[in-house]
Amino acid sequence: MPNDPLSYESIKSSISEGAEMLNEPLVQELIQEITADNENSISIIKCLLEGKITDEEISEEIELRLNIVRRILYKLYDAGLASYKRSKDPETQWYTYSWKFEAERVIEMINNRHSEIVTNLKEILEYKENNIFFACKNNDCRCSFDEASENGFICPKCDGEMEYMDNGPIIDQIKEEIDLYENNGSDAGIAAEKNS
Ligand SMILES: [Zn+2]
Repeated sequence: MPNDPLSYESIKSSISEGAEMLNEPLVQELIQEITADNENSISIIKCLLEGKITDEEISEEIELRLNIVRRILYKLYDAGLASYKRSKDPETQWYTYSWKFEAERVIEMINNRHSEIVTNLKEILEYKENNIFFACKNNDCRCSFDEASENGFICPKCDGEMEYMDNGPIIDQIKEEIDLYENNGSDAGIAAEKNS
């Protein structure tokens, strides 16, 4: 969990500090999702940021099998987080691949992801605002007016009476989450996890 809120701007500024960005939980999360191997991926990206840019150099530096290094690099490439240049050694005629980590794409991807979540939350908010909800005392069934009405306002689980539910607090909560996502990403991620 980060100490300070991680906004689009702060992700951006941490990226300008090179390898620093790899300490950011949101960045680690993204890389884990893409490569399913956060630890080795982070080591590889650190190498790239520090100027060791061929797969052989990286493999040697972090003592990781060349195959694994390549697999991770191609996964990053596939996600748009890395690019490479191929060049031919005039003497040996062998190809060398020089890799580059696309740090800017990381911010973009995290930012896009947040936008998607905000869009979702806004849809939920609209639904909650435009509908009234009913619940039983045990709160084991919450449904819309239509659903409650179909069941004769009796809870299908406990047979208890279903009563009008004030969804004001839920609406406030959703609004708060939207606000967090729009202003500082990582806190919102944590809030959303708690509520899911
Ligand atoms: Zn019930």
